[in-house]
Amino acid sequence: MLKHFILWAALSASGLAFASQTVAPPAEQVGAVAAHPFFRSADLPAWSALTPQQAVADAEYAAQLALERISAICRLTPEEATIENTYLAVDDASDELQCVVMLSQHLLYANDTAENRAASEKVSDIMSDLTAEIYSNEKLWQLMQAADTPEKVAVLSPAKKRAVKQLYDIFVDNGANLSAEKKAQRNALEKEMMQLSMQFEKHLQDFTQNWELLIKNKEELTGVPDPLMLDMRRAAAEKGLDGWLVTLRDETAAPVMAMCAVESTRKKCWEAVFGYGAGSEYDTAPIIAQLMEKRQAFAELLGFKNYADYEARTRMVHSGDEALAFVDDMIRKLKPAYDKEVAAQLKAFEEFCDKPVSSLNPWDELFATYVYYNEAQLGSGVDLSPYLKCNQVINGMLAVYSKLLGVTYKQVPSVCLKPGQTCPQGKVEVWHPSVKCIAVYDTATNVHSGTFYLDLYRRDNKRTGAWCAPLRLAEPGPGGAVQEPHIAALMANFEPPEKGVPNLLSHSELVVLFHEFGHMMHHLLSHTELKGHCAMGVAWDFTEFPSTLAENWAWSPEVLAVFARHYRTKQACPEQYLKSLSEDRKAMQVSMYMEILCKAKLDLEIHMHYAQKFKGRSLDEVSAAIAKDCQLPYASTPYSCLRNLSHCFSGGYAAGVYTYLWSEVMAADAFTLFEHSGLMNPQIGKKYRETILEKGDSIPADELYRMFMGRDPDADALIRRHKLQHNL
Ligand SMILES: [Zn+2]
Repeated sequence: MLKHFILWAALSASGLAFASQTVAPPAEQVGAVAAHPFFRSADLPAWSALTPQQAVADAEYAAQLALERISAICRLTPEEATIENTYLAVDDASDELQCVVMLSQHLLYANDTAENRAASEKVSDIMSDLTAEIYSNEKLWQLMQAADTPEKVAVLSPAKKRAVKQLYDIFVDNGANLSAEKKAQRNALEKEMMQLSMQFEKHLQDFTQNWELLIKNKEELTGVPDPLMLDMRRAAAEKGLDGWLVTLRDETAAPVMAMCAVESTRKKCWEAVFGYGAGSEYDTAPIIAQLMEKRQAFAELLGFKNYADYEARTRMVHSGDEALAFVDDMIRKLKPAYDKEVAAQLKAFEEFCDKPVSSLNPWDELFATYVYYNEAQLGSGVDLSPYLKCNQVINGMLAVYSKLLGVTYKQVPSVCLKPGQTCPQGKVEVWHPSVKCIAVYDTATNVHSGTFYLDLYRRDNKRTGAWCAPLRLAEPGPGGAVQEPHIAALMANFEPPEKGVPNLLSHSELVVLFHEFGHMMHHLLSHTELKGHCAMGVAWDFTEFPSTLAENWAWSPEVLAVFARHYRTKQACPEQYLKSLSEDRKAMQVSMYMEILCKAKLDLEIHMHYAQKFKGRSLDEVSAAIAKDCQLPYASTPYSCLRNLSHCFSGGYAAGVYTYLWSEVMAADAFTLFEHSGLMNPQIGKKYRETILEKGDSIPADELYRMFMGRDPDADALIRRHKLQHNL
């Protein structure tokens, strides 16, 4: 599906584990270097042949192939047009280019060099040019409409009917039904929106790189822990300065603001961390204002009330109003628990300051949270990392998923080659020596459903964070039988193992690992009639459901007991340590949810009511008024969190921040089914696999959810969890 070209760019992924068994690679893999190594083949990619130059050459050739196929479609007469030779043929026309895009983007994220960046940008330009050409092809659009008759659609399978509707909508979104004049306006607006998003990001990046605060008097940093002081001392020395250098680029400003006992220092850091150059040349507020005007005009041109409605057209929520109603409802329900948490926080701060505190200066908020967290001794204070040795965790996680989902993981022997080297028989290539390759089989049928790479450790030039990169969508066989495995990579930035130093994960890294593994299994177990309906194409507000759900396993004592062993003594993790996890999970949880809801509400309000509420007014003051129920009582106006919310102004989350809580609610609700039946219960695992993981986007997400749970999501599942935890 064409829509996936667009979606892939914004996808996150994660990586996984290895197991003790091994399996021989397919015979075709051995030593084979195709003329176009970025294209789909029966083999796993020959990574040493995937050079930046080859990416561009393959992309150019793939675009040419796609255009030839589109020209062939356009030679049909309206009478000859069928769904297969128009819609479905258009869908397949750029398959090779899609393969090049996925692999070149992955190579960039795995190794962010100037060459890979240039190649990836070029490939993405080739893809944009191609899609623009396809969407503006009027002959093609006429043929698609000629094929799209009730009689011809009636005989299609449900998946194909859905694909036809989806592709039709994509063409309409791209202006297929607009007059030439309006189409030109639409395309101009799209370009302007893209430029404004880039400007927004550039302002943030430039401010981050340039802002510094040199502190010469140590007293002004009272309370800041020694390791951070050392880092700042070193940063100053590197610039030939005497003192302590606080910056945004080294990420020292936020922790100083949170931990420094000196108010004036906290205020200076707050101005940077939250203000992001407000009032200066870096101010993002004027860009946001222009972007909102353009987005509103764009949405109206396509027949939508506002930009939130436009974005909602392919989501589980059907409108901006529905998303906002969800956010408001969550705020209302969490408010009692939040007020209780805020009152406790203010009381702790009052005791610390030894004077009455009824409201906070915005620059004191993180410090007050820090005081509260420490004074109230929230969480268990237990460090589980000695029990979370990376390899052990991964083998344990695979064992848990193997049982739950009825799959078998087998490690494939691998080798990292230089360009021109031949892959030894019995091995597959990887892009870095530390990367592992794992094949996934259905335990009952031995069908090979997917293969994934695990690239877990930090290294120079690798993008930060963790993500799951889809590398190939399996081409389904007749009747939906999978003919080839899906391919994906789980990427993370854990500490690499060093001689004599065990690579231990923190518990939060464990949660990240399970989250990304949730994405991974969603992709690898997709089993759909059309490859465009694979898991990664699901509605934007459903994408994070399997991954958020998977996080629950990382919090479960029953699951951790499977693999948590002390790295030296091999002793099992004490039961009270595992039980203490629930203490850690509830610490400040409501405040964290409220922070997301605050951003989600402002994101929706500005995308729905810009002209009525924001236009011509102070972004900070309007935001403070709208968000008053989900923020602390402030003594003065805080900076609007929209100022640096790149998610919705330069990322893919416009009017979509709510999806974080939306996924949390569905995950909390669905998890109750596993809690009642056992976290490794194969019957529930099978149902989950068959109704959610395998179906991908072939069926609307709300229907999938109902197929699994037998009902709609229970909005109170998350609330119940917190009411219980807070004894409300
Ligand atoms: Zn995710």
